[in-house]
Amino acid sequence: MTRPLQDRYGRVATDLRVSLTDRCNLRCNYCMPAEGLDWLPDDSVLSDDEVVRLIGIGVSHLGVREVRFTGGEPLVRRGLVGIVERTRALGPDLELSITTNALGLARTADKLAAAGLDRVNVSLDSVRAETFHAITRRDRLPDVVAGLEAAQAAGLGPVKVNAVLLRGTNDDQAGELLAWCLERGYELRFIEQMPLDAQHGWSRTGMITAEEIFERLSRDFELSPAVEPRGSAPAELFRVDGGPGTVGVIASVTRPFCGDCDRVRLTADGQVRNCLFAREESDLRAALRGGATDEEIADRWVVAMLGKRAGHGIDDPTFLQPDRPMSAIGG
Ligand code: SAM
Ligand code: SF4
Repeated sequence: MTRPLQDRYGRVATDLRVSLTDRCNLRCNYCMPAEGLDWLPDDSVLSDDEVVRLIGIGVSHLGVREVRFTGGEPLVRRGLVGIVERTRALGPDLELSITTNALGLARTADKLAAAGLDRVNVSLDSVRAETFHAITRRDRLPDVVAGLEAAQAAGLGPVKVNAVLLRGTNDDQAGELLAWCLERGYELRFIEQMPLDAQHGWSRTGMITAEEIFERLSRDFELSPAVEPRGSAPAELFRVDGGPGTVGVIASVTRPFCGDCDRVRLTADGQVRNCLFAREESDLRAALRGGATDEEIADRWVVAMLGKRAGHGIDDPTFLQPDRPMSAIGG
C-alpha cells in the first residue's frame, strides 16, 4: 500500500536525499572547520543493506520518486556503486542522482553510470587554484575538473555545478565561473550561503544574496528569465545572452521556497529529517535494528512528516541553527 509523505500544510515529499556519510576529503570553510569535527561513530552509520532497505520502503510504501545521494562526501562511501545499483533495481523510473565534490569521480563515473545513476551535481566555487584552496583548504582543483569531464563523458548529464559565493573570497568570480561552465556545457547554479556550518560562522551580512549575484552576473551577461515554470525546483533559472546556456540562482535565504518543498532527508545514521533546518529527527535506525516491519517503519516515517514546519524561519528572531551541520544532514 502506498501512502504519501504528506505534512500538515499539504506538501508531499517525493524527493529523498540520502546522506551516505558525514565524512569528507575537503574542508570547505562555509561547511566544516579545518579540524576537530567529531564524526558519527561507525556503529551508528547504516550498513549498505540498511540504507537500501529504507530507500526501498520510501519507494514502495511512501511514493518516493527521486533519490539523491549526498553527504559529507558520498564518493568516500565504499559501497556507493553497489548502493546505486540496488537502488536502481527498486525502480526503473526512479530519478537517481548524486551531489559530490567530484574528488575521485574520474575513476568512478563510468561505474556509477553503469549502476544506473542518472545525473551528478558537482560543487565547485572557483576555477582559480588559489581561491579553491582558500575555500576547501586542499589543493585538489585538477581532480574536480577531471571528475566533471568524466561525468559528462559517462553520460551523467546534464552536469550541474553548484557554487557558493563568499564575500571577499570568490564573490568577484561569479562571471568567470559562469563563462567556464558555459564553455563546457555545465549548468551552473549559485546557492545562497545558509546557517548550517559546523562552526556557526554564518552571518546575514557575510552572505552574498541572490540579488547581489544577479547584479554581478548582469555586468558581464544579459540574463532573461527562462520560460520553464519553477515548480518545486528551488533554482530560479535565467537564460544567458539569449541562450541556450542558463544559470540558476537558489535564494534559499532571501526568497525561500519552503511552500513548494517536496524533500525529505535520511541521515547516514538513519534519522529522518523533514527539513534541512529541522530541530527534531525521527529515529528509523532504532526501529530497523529493533526488528520493526517495513509497514511499521513506514508508519514512523509518515508521522515524522507531520512535524514539518511551514518554513525554515531564518528571519525569525527565535531561529536556532540545527545541532547537526550540513555535512551530517546531507545537503
Ligand atoms: N560533499 C558534497 C558536495 O560538496 O557536493 C555533498 C555534500 S555538501 C554538504 C552539498 C552542498 O551543500 C554543496 O553544494 C555545498 O556547497 C553546499 N553547502 C555546504 N554548506 C553550505 C552552507 N552553509 N550554505 C549553503 N550551501 C552549503
Ligand atoms: Fe565536504 Fe561538501 Fe562540506 Fe565541502 S561542502 S566540506 S565537499 S561536505
